[in-house]
Amino acid sequence: MNQGNSLENKFLAQFLESVYGIRGKVSRLAGYQDRNYLITCSSEDRYILKITMAVEDLEFIRSQNRVLLALSQKPVGKILPSPMSNSNGGFYAEILLDGQQAFTRLFPFIDGSFLAEANPAGSFYADLGRVFAQIDRDMTGLEDAVLKSRTHAWDLARVMEITGDINLISNPGDRRLVHYFLMKYREEVAPIYHLLPKTLLHADGNDWNILTIEGGGGREDTVAGVIDFGDMVWSGRIHEVAIVLAYSMMGKNDYLNVFKEVINGYQEVIRLADLELSIIYYLIAARWCQTMVMAARQEHLNPGSAYHQVSVGGARRMLELWVRENPTGMVKRVMNGERGEKGERGEKELEERVEERYKYFSKAVSLSYQEPIYMVGAAMQYMYGEDGRTYVDCVNNIPHVGHCHPKVVEAGQRQMARLNTNTRYLYDNLDRYASKLLSKFPPSLNKVFFVNSGSAATDLAVRLAEAHTGRCEYIVLDYAYHGNTKAAIGLSPYKFNRKGGKGKPDNVKILNLNPNMVPTAAQGPPPGPLLRKEGEDSRRTFFAESIVGCAGQLVLSKGLMQQTVNEVRANGGIYVADEVQTGFGRVGQKFWAFELYDVIPDMVILGKPMGNGHPMGAVVCTEEIARSFETGMEFFSSFGGNPVSCEIGMAVLEVIEEEELQENARIVGDFLISELNKLCSRESTVGEEQRLLPFGNMPEAGGSSDHASPFKFRISEVRGSGLFLGIELVESETGKPATEAAVAIVNAMKEKGILLSTDGPFNNVIKFKPPMCFSMENAQELVTALRGTIR
Ligand code: PMP
Repeated sequence: MNQGNSLENKFLAQFLESVYGIRGKVSRLAGYQDRNYLITCSSEDRYILKITMAVEDLEFIRSQNRVLLALSQKPVGKILPSPMSNSNGGFYAEILLDGQQAFTRLFPFIDGSFLAEANPAGSFYADLGRVFAQIDRDMTGLEDAVLKSRTHAWDLARVMEITGDINLISNPGDRRLVHYFLMKYREEVAPIYHLLPKTLLHADGNDWNILTIEGGGGREDTVAGVIDFGDMVWSGRIHEVAIVLAYSMMGKNDYLNVFKEVINGYQEVIRLADLELSIIYYLIAARWCQTMVMAARQEHLNPGSAYHQVSVGGARRMLELWVRENPTGMVKRVMNGERGEKGERGEKELEERVEERYKYFSKAVSLSYQEPIYMVGAAMQYMYGEDGRTYVDCVNNIPHVGHCHPKVVEAGQRQMARLNTNTRYLYDNLDRYASKLLSKFPPSLNKVFFVNSGSAATDLAVRLAEAHTGRCEYIVLDYAYHGNTKAAIGLSPYKFNRKGGKGKPDNVKILNLNPNMVPTAAQGPPPGPLLRKEGEDSRRTFFAESIVGCAGQLVLSKGLMQQTVNEVRANGGIYVADEVQTGFGRVGQKFWAFELYDVIPDMVILGKPMGNGHPMGAVVCTEEIARSFETGMEFFSSFGGNPVSCEIGMAVLEVIEEEELQENARIVGDFLISELNKLCSRESTVGEEQRLLPFGNMPEAGGSSDHASPFKFRISEVRGSGLFLGIELVESETGKPATEAAVAIVNAMKEKGILLSTDGPFNNVIKFKPPMCFSMENAQELVTALRGTIR
């Protein structure tokens, strides 16, 4: 408590005596807009003097007094502030303070502890819900023209107005979450806001406006007071509960229990409509967004001012936790105490869905996991299943900067509503994006062709290579995958040499540039040159993924890589780097994974992460190669480089920079490599109950299928870079690839809400390539879950 200015206090004491006829000690209290003072006459006789400095609020003061006096006639009025009359019989008085005209009101002091400083038992929160519902119910009909037209910046209905100031939030992770939840408000709440019941609300049930009293003697804690009606507003009824929840859940481990209690308590008095409950998730988040942006705004205008910062730590943590809560059917689930289990009915429905899928699709189109997941939403590194569960996405590198990243979504939406056309016209964002993208490459790579997928990029790269070298001869890495077109399959041993494949085409030569790779043929590191100087090896095009994903996240030997590129070039060939999986900062140390080997390609293929899920691909090449393609035949892609894609691609690049995601990949990746290495060599088992094979994706070799007990294995290697890692498993006794153990772990981890997959020639490598916003906390959680799975 701030004792305040003693002259001012003396002046106010005189004022109180003359206007209210009370004599007491005056001390200043904290306040946001109004000035508040505690008046102590005796320990039992205390008051709050409230001084409103804004003259324009007089009409509001009158209306507020009228509402509070009416409420004082109701049972709930006992715990609410009721204005006291002064010697003139009025409920407010004029005062000249600091040379300014202001208005005073006097209220009896309400005893109790602020909720912010108390830690009441769970059932308190039902009382809290009930009290706010009683207030809302008893205020019904008390609204007047002043209250109905009143508006202020904290009204939840005006939350979108803070959008322009999101950038004032300095922490990129906080900014991303606030932006995300505002986007969700715009998408999920704004379109139906007009349908919500409106009522007069207290609208500021924050934990400094709620007083609690301990029950004692086995009785429950209860609400002792609700103060400060200064935010009263005519707005969506559901805002009341959302605001109360935004504050009362903060800092609570069992915040979902608070959620349940408050809503249940409120509904004992006022039954909320399904529509209101369906959006409460977004409204609660909206209040945290307001807290974050208002604080950032205040900090910007008035650095060091503490008042607005009071809830920031709590709000930012809640946003981090909240994005992990699956919003689908959340209210019902929490109310019924369910945690997202499927049950028998759910399993049956899932089976029917799978059947339905294959009514329309070939079995060549596979589903992941023994029990496929029905997805209904996603946010950043999290995905939401229809069953109410949240999954941490550790395996999808397509939503590179995060699922539904607001900046990317909005870039696409904006441009889609403006212009979408093709490269046969001039438009600014094509050149802008091309220039930005090429600025990420060494200067020799200065021409770009836009397409719509990694496969299309491979296909085009083949045509460019043929135009440039004059030959259709290729070198590829063993187990490589370069795409689904006929040309790309021909360059993909992962496809042509495995089930259903037609074998190696004659014009393709296979190399293995990882000396540690489990030998599949007699293919150790070569002693001498890799290529012949003349004849069949002349002018071959060398395609290499910079870390070979389908081979099991294989990092190549720098020496062999440089040697190969040198030999290819000496033979008149060119080197094409496939960065579809590894590009855009994923490997942490570098923006492109080819940079790990200190080699500069002649051409680069891009795809997956480029559009964060929007279908984009590109071929970047040298001036000379681009010129060789100028044969008179037009190159045209209907969609490649369209204005919408350019805006999206640009947003992805900007987010990578703004959120320092490459650096995040490096830090989190290094941490994971070091933690996972601690699990290496240790003999481990994974339970037999997890003996499940990936749905429609059977391993082809390695492992034995006749285990009767848990699989014994060890982690033989953790490899990769940044957020592109592989965990290789081998059987403890034989040292053979431990396929079943890897598959069992992936399925077990899925049950724990963590999505991974297996890959490599024997499906014994657990693949890790999450969205780039994957945090240290997520990494810690992954390691803990893995430790718990492999005993
Ligand atoms: N190259 C690599 C290395 C890939 O992993 C893929 C896709 N998995 C592709 C090319 C083909 O990309 P898309 O599926 O977009 O056609």
